[in-house]
Amino acid sequence: MPAASSPSAAAGRKKVAATGPELFEVKDPRTGEVIGELPIHTAADLADMAQRSRKAFERWRHVPFKQRAEAMMRFSELVLDRLDEGVELIRSETGKTWTDAHADFLAAFNTIRYYCRKGEGFLADERRTPWLVKNKAVYVSYKPMGVAGIIAPWNFPFELAVSEAVTAMLAGSTVIVKPSEVTPLIALWAEELFKESGLPDNVFQIATGLGATGAALIGVVDRICFTGSTATGRKVAVACAERLIPCTLELGGKDPMIVCDDADIEKAAGAAVYGAFFNAGQMCTSIERAYVHEDVYDAFVRQVVDRTNSIRLTEDEGGPQDFGSMTFEPQIDIVEGHVEDAKRSGARVLTGGKRRPDIGPLVYEPTVLVDVDHSMTIMREESFGPILPIMKVRSDEEAVRLANDTPYGLNSGVWTEDGERAKDIARQLQVGTTEINDAATCHLLIESPFGGVKDSGVGRRKGPEGIRKYTEPQTVSRDLF
Ligand code: NAD
Repeated sequence: MPAASSPSAAAGRKKVAATGPELFEVKDPRTGEVIGELPIHTAADLADMAQRSRKAFERWRHVPFKQRAEAMMRFSELVLDRLDEGVELIRSETGKTWTDAHADFLAAFNTIRYYCRKGEGFLADERRTPWLVKNKAVYVSYKPMGVAGIIAPWNFPFELAVSEAVTAMLAGSTVIVKPSEVTPLIALWAEELFKESGLPDNVFQIATGLGATGAALIGVVDRICFTGSTATGRKVAVACAERLIPCTLELGGKDPMIVCDDADIEKAAGAAVYGAFFNAGQMCTSIERAYVHEDVYDAFVRQVVDRTNSIRLTEDEGGPQDFGSMTFEPQIDIVEGHVEDAKRSGARVLTGGKRRPDIGPLVYEPTVLVDVDHSMTIMREESFGPILPIMKVRSDEEAVRLANDTPYGLNSGVWTEDGERAKDIARQLQVGTTEINDAATCHLLIESPFGGVKDSGVGRRKGPEGIRKYTEPQTVSRDLF
């Protein structure tokens, strides 16, 4: 099997090596410079990795939870010790700002600490009270499941590769992670640190490569947790169905924000700017569109534009850089396409609306648009970039109808000072999460289920269900007489 070159030596483009495995290149999106070449793991490599993973599983499954948790905490301490190095590595393959790169780690630390503390309780045998057959004692045992496959995207490459892997390992599974071909270096760095922390061999492995490597992974594991686009998610679902293995699909979103006529406009505008432009808008829970009541529309738009104009695109603007590069070349084309399509149909760009090659090859300005409607792609399809279209509405009913008018259903936000009104709107939204008077923080609510409905996914991460999905529940009953 080909060995991965070291992360510090190491998008997406295939190369034929003179000898040895096929390679792909990893690029720094801030400069376009090639920063690594990694092997494309084949189906045969994956079969080999899975065999070693199964062997490791036979030992790992019997390791007491406390020892598994100690191993994960040792890893987490090592990451903390070398955080600056990790942050710079992530920045080099994503183009994130310093702050956005730290957020990637924060989310992972949150998951690791939560499940290390709470996981044993979630995995303990659970007594059930028989409903009909009263002469039985019943409990459910959550047994380690086998080899888990984690397929990750490029937008939070540490969090989305590591958090699910740690959760699965705490549940007694071994894991093989297939990071995005755009951002594989930080996952290899994590592998190095897991080794350093003393984790037994083959409990955590990384398979590098393109989409075909991900497809091959599905062929050899016992469960898949996939995070990525809806289009790939459909293929993953079909492949898992063929093998009758469970999968969790965390897919795209078109997250709406609803601003009612009684909302605190200053706070709502601040949250809109943060929620739409954090991580250059490349976040599944970012605000992708806003529906604002006509009575507060002008004030909201004015404040959003003012705040957007104060975002620092570079450090030369008198403070730390607030806003980074986009990561994936095709994504900036999608963003640009959505803005141009909207403009052709009558939308107005109030600020932003263009690439900034003077700052970096994949920098697109934070962009605010108005005079938009649902005939435009920008209001119904995922943009996954720094654009915020704002639409005027006349009522809560209209806002809810438009918010639900997409194939997606991931996150959403409601802004009102009336608690009951907020709950009423939340109930009507076809989504997995709703944030009242808040934006883009739901992924930190580690105790509560997170996931999408409609084309945004199947299954949930986080909370008790997030770790139990890596087990096989076994019902055990005993006759009392
Ligand atoms: P993508 O679907 O292109 O790729 C995701 C991963 O799937 C990559 O590792 C890729 O190599 C792999 N892959 C590609 N083809 C495959 C196949 N046939 N079988 C198995 N694996 C395959 O997505 P992306 O562009 O990396 O990520 C961006 C998308 O991720 C956006 O749509 C975003 O909304 C979504 N996302 C969702 C969440 C969530 O929690 N819902 C979180 C982050 C990102």
